[in-house]
Amino acid sequence: MKIERVEAITFTHRTYTQRDSDGHNHPGPEGTGTSALLQITCDDGTVGQAMCRPTDLRPDVLERFVRPNLIGQSPLLIERAWYAIYKWQRLSGGQLTDRALTAVDLALWDLMGKVTGQPVWKLIGGYRPKILAYGSTMCGDDMEGGLATPEDYARFAEWMLGRGYKAIKLHGWMVPMPGAPNVKLDYRACAAVREVVGPDIPLMLDPHHFYPRSDVLWLANKLAELDFVWMEEPMEEASMSSYKWLTGNTGLNILGPETMTGKHWTRAEWVKHDACDMVRTGVWDVGGISPAMKCAHMAESFHMACEVHGTGAGNLAVALASHNCTFYERGLLHPFIDYDAPADYQNRIDDEMDADGYVHGREEPGLGQDLNMDYIEAHRVNND
Ligand code: MG
Repeated sequence: MKIERVEAITFTHRTYTQRDSDGHNHPGPEGTGTSALLQITCDDGTVGQAMCRPTDLRPDVLERFVRPNLIGQSPLLIERAWYAIYKWQRLSGGQLTDRALTAVDLALWDLMGKVTGQPVWKLIGGYRPKILAYGSTMCGDDMEGGLATPEDYARFAEWMLGRGYKAIKLHGWMVPMPGAPNVKLDYRACAAVREVVGPDIPLMLDPHHFYPRSDVLWLANKLAELDFVWMEEPMEEASMSSYKWLTGNTGLNILGPETMTGKHWTRAEWVKHDACDMVRTGVWDVGGISPAMKCAHMAESFHMACEVHGTGAGNLAVALASHNCTFYERGLLHPFIDYDAPADYQNRIDDEMDADGYVHGREEPGLGQDLNMDYIEAHRVNND
């Protein structure tokens, strides 16, 4: 069995969010977005699929780095394929990104599932058939009835509890929102949510990412008083020393690194240098399911949790397969967004949640994505 064809189908679909000047998503009017579907096809017709951004796998990236390392190769040697492509990153001048590696790795795992007739979450370890989700809010905004005030967050947290969520993570206000960045405002939102959900609901905070140390330490200590489970990425993560300092100076759990480059190697350095209390991984941050599982196993070896960043079928598979992962991140949520509604290109969303707040692993072979291929083909805009 050999890989015969690799293509990325770019297609259009409706969107209901818009990005602010710093790149954060907020609810917006109906618009048109563009996504891509990577398809890796074998000589027996089996197809592995992964959704990604069109910019992850531009035609020259596919042609220079991906196809030469996949065509004619066995689809079952995923680690081999990952390293064959990864080694081209060094001299690619930044053209071959970790996200490109991720898309390929996800599609290969989907293919492995279809070849073997097993869901990916079982193939990579299969620790649990369902996992508790935390509702992850969008960043704060300035919308009437949105997430503009601490009281708005509290009201939305109440709604989340009614929907079944048993844990909540707030994203605070970021630039360019009025008044941001401001640790006092972040704290007021966190305190308002704690007040309304009571003492037993796990809470987390993902604030503005560029605070100075003094602000971060104040906020961390105040969140510890509110019994928050963790805070993530309140400073530039390239400064591991700052995180080592923070972790050593507060009783609050610091989770990281999230967006720092370096894949599983960086996560291991942070553990070695006591720069975090809990390890962060995510398939779109570290280059796929394969390196994300290495992060989880590395953290487990040091009796540390490894919490998965972000949504989607790949991250859900890692969370379901990891003994030391507590939650699946579900979102981003907002009072004006219907998260449970499938996108145009889906028959079902990847992470349907039951009334008790659990997301279940699917039994279908592969990643468990339920895509509307008729829609995708009908809205295709490229032939690469
Ligand atoms: Mg984060």
